[in-house]
Amino acid sequence: MMTLDDILAAGPLSTLEPGWVWLTGAGPGDPGLLTLRAADGLRQADVVVYDALVDERILDLVQPGTLVEYAGKRGGKPSPKQRDISLRLIEFAHAGKRVLRLKGGDPFVFGRGGEEALALVEAGVPFRVIPGVTAGIGGLGYAGIPVTHRDVNQSVTFLTGHDQSGLTPSAVDWPAVAKACPVLVMYMAIKHLDDIAGRLIEGGRDPNEPVAVVSNATLPDMRVLETTLSRAAAETADAGIEPPAIVCVGRVVLLRQALDWLAQSRGEPVRSLDPLGVRQSEEAS
Ligand code: SAH
Repeated sequence: MMTLDDILAAGPLSTLEPGWVWLTGAGPGDPGLLTLRAADGLRQADVVVYDALVDERILDLVQPGTLVEYAGKRGGKPSPKQRDISLRLIEFAHAGKRVLRLKGGDPFVFGRGGEEALALVEAGVPFRVIPGVTAGIGGLGYAGIPVTHRDVNQSVTFLTGHDQSGLTPSAVDWPAVAKACPVLVMYMAIKHLDDIAGRLIEGGRDPNEPVAVVSNATLPDMRVLETTLSRAAAETADAGIEPPAIVCVGRVVLLRQALDWLAQSRGEPVRSLDPLGVRQSEEAS
């Protein structure tokens, strides 16, 4: 019989050694979505450096005496520079601490985990990565939206809604994305949603294409707005939906009419058993 310890020992690097950094994903919110490795790392760490968007309940898993340090923005103060966070990790590691760097979602998805890892390598600090459930997949799963579905898409495109300067990312070829990507999953896209939707429609997307905006996904205050591309920005603002939120563009959003398992668990009825109209068209042909 396998125990949890056996499972952890079967993979690489299950002991957090002094002087190491474990670059760890905390998942999108629900502490239950933490991986076994992340939970085990939290128990072993001397120091945990965590970001905004990491649920504080997760931090209760550390041992008494663990130094838990916040590396995000707080109380309107400017956030520490990425370089300063990397230096802090290096400093702890060089002091012989067992360091767990805890980031929201997956550390290598729009989370600057790659930058931190590069800095560690440059400083000669050994590290490992513990992937996490990313908001753009797990968060949509909690909303009853599969990011792929055979009748809809053979690809998924992950996009960030703003670039380093805080503007709509200029390095994204929006007309190409509009043409080639049936399902778009956008992080940090609330601020420029109007602009992004406009570019997609200009690029040929149907203004009536289904869109879901999912904020605080996987958490008790999760909100899901079902809308369309042309109305998404205005309705998000009207509904008072704020970041953190994932915006999903594509017909997979329709599946929520059948797959909203959270609503169903509360006794709400299934809205449609054929949200894509697939059966109907099969019957007709
Ligand atoms: N590394 C993270 C993403 C960090 S970027 C991951 O893999 O999920 C921060 C953005 O992630 C937010 O602006 C939002 O778009 C998204 N995000 C993170 N947590 C979220 C949540 N609980 N609900 C909705 N969106 C979330």
